[in-house]
Amino acid sequence: MQPCGAPQVILAWAVATRSFDASGRRPYRSYPNDRLEAGRREGVTTSERTAVEGVAVSTDHWIGGERVASADRFEDKSPIDEGVIASVARGGAAEARAAVAAARDAFDGWGRTTPKERAEVLHRIADGVEARVAELAAVETRDNGSLLRSHVRSVMPRVARNFRFFADRLLALDGSADATYDGNAEHVTWDPAGVTVVISPWNAPLMLATWRIAPALAAGNTVIQKPPEWAPLTASLLADIARDAGLPDGVFNVVQGIGEEAGAALTSDPGVARIAFTGSVDTGRLVAESAAANLTPVSLELGGKSPFLIFADADPDAALRQAINQFDNAGQVCLAGTRLLIERSIYDDFIERFTDAAAAIRQGDPREETTDLGPLISRAHLERVDGFVERAKAAGARLVFGGGVSPELGGLYHRPTLFVDAPAGSEILTKEVFGPVLTAQPFADEDDAVALANATDFGLAATVYTSDLGRAQRVSERLVAGTVWVNCFFVRDLNAPFGGSKDSGIGREGGVWSFDFYSDVKNTVVAPAPPTSDRPSEGEQEGRT
Ligand code: NAD
Repeated sequence: MQPCGAPQVILAWAVATRSFDASGRRPYRSYPNDRLEAGRREGVTTSERTAVEGVAVSTDHWIGGERVASADRFEDKSPIDEGVIASVARGGAAEARAAVAAARDAFDGWGRTTPKERAEVLHRIADGVEARVAELAAVETRDNGSLLRSHVRSVMPRVARNFRFFADRLLALDGSADATYDGNAEHVTWDPAGVTVVISPWNAPLMLATWRIAPALAAGNTVIQKPPEWAPLTASLLADIARDAGLPDGVFNVVQGIGEEAGAALTSDPGVARIAFTGSVDTGRLVAESAAANLTPVSLELGGKSPFLIFADADPDAALRQAINQFDNAGQVCLAGTRLLIERSIYDDFIERFTDAAAAIRQGDPREETTDLGPLISRAHLERVDGFVERAKAAGARLVFGGGVSPELGGLYHRPTLFVDAPAGSEILTKEVFGPVLTAQPFADEDDAVALANATDFGLAATVYTSDLGRAQRVSERLVAGTVWVNCFFVRDLNAPFGGSKDSGIGREGGVWSFDFYSDVKNTVVAPAPPTSDRPSEGEQEGRT
């Protein structure tokens, strides 16, 4: 934000604000939390660790700076071979209460730290992530079945970048000289909001969680993460890294458990100031209902059924390469352009070339460097994806390739799949499959392309391939989506707003939008002080009274 108007007055105000607090720390808000104290430390502290891919991982909660066990546990299976890799603490209402109490206690201190102090800790967390990329990647791959090479080269480095970016962005926040109105200076501050609950899905557990954890911590909030029960382990490693980085006890907490139990207990807790949820639309609705009871602000990043538009004038090779990428992570990507919309004049040719290119996808163990496509997360999810495939066939869609599990690999390795000729409005064209299942439809012209693209309840992203930038602008203006990519995919600056329209979510995060959500944004309006020479001296003042 550019300063405008009366800079000296505003500078004086900023200095005066700082002098209100002898420690030089930001003002903070504290909450009475006697009601929550009862829930504290109900668990038993532990030091047990399980070896996963040679990495020692705690399978217990991390609450108030301690590892806390639960009497109940759940099995964590690897999608690579469906083997049990860990028995994880199954938290519920008691653990949620304990974590909220610990996070509220810690907020009194963390919310008062200076931005510089917080930024330093966040950079140290980023250092810790970078130092452990190989371990984080190995554990995440074993846990969620995504490609090891992607975890090593892009996903875990992005986890570190989440912390670095929001640390730096925090220091660049500037509301000190936003505006003047009627001679008064307006001064905007992003005050810490309180305890933030972060709930994330399994398709990129640590990256998606830290995209919310990092700005929440940067804003001065304390955080409770509820990791996905299908891939809960890297959250535990993050707790180790945060502790080693000097993050005070209780500022970051992890409650392990099942969504309907630990997750629901956290989102309904009145001591929570913000809820950042990433997951499916159905769960998003439940989370929003829970949040509504306490009027807790909620940010929802939900599902998608994004269109991928290819015009006849597009670079054919670039469009093909990027279209094939939509099978990435076995289709378990919220942003994936799963509906290929292809201009009719190139439709048949494109389908033929796409089919050839898909045949070259190498499916297998995600730990192998040569693998392009790994397994789905769980048997229940495989059955869900299979259900979509079978119902699409029954509805009259034509299978071009794929369908079902790879005969060579078995297990959870669903083949890349393409449907054409699906009836308009049918389930396979409108509902999110979240597996390696794409559809293709021809379109006649721009109007037709836009109508097809917008014909779902989702609005997360859209991709347009064309060499005509005028067309790109016309079309992207009419697409309903939080992000539109033109002749590219999956790239964006963390300063940019990210989120979904329609059923794909509520709110935008990224850059200042994240700070707007995780903070209590405050405007302070300061009347100009009268010139010093007009003020009565102390003696004169006394004389007048
Ligand atoms: P999900 O909704 O089943 O679960 C997500 C999280 O919510 C899990 O941690 C789960 O334990 C928790 N949860 C479940 N029930 C809950 C409840 N009643 N209260 C509180 N928490 C509860 O989603 P999923 O199957 O893990 O993930 C896939 C979905 O996530 C897809 O729809 C995908 O598009 C979406 N997603 C969206 C984005 C985005 O940025 N928009 C990113 C990744 C994934």
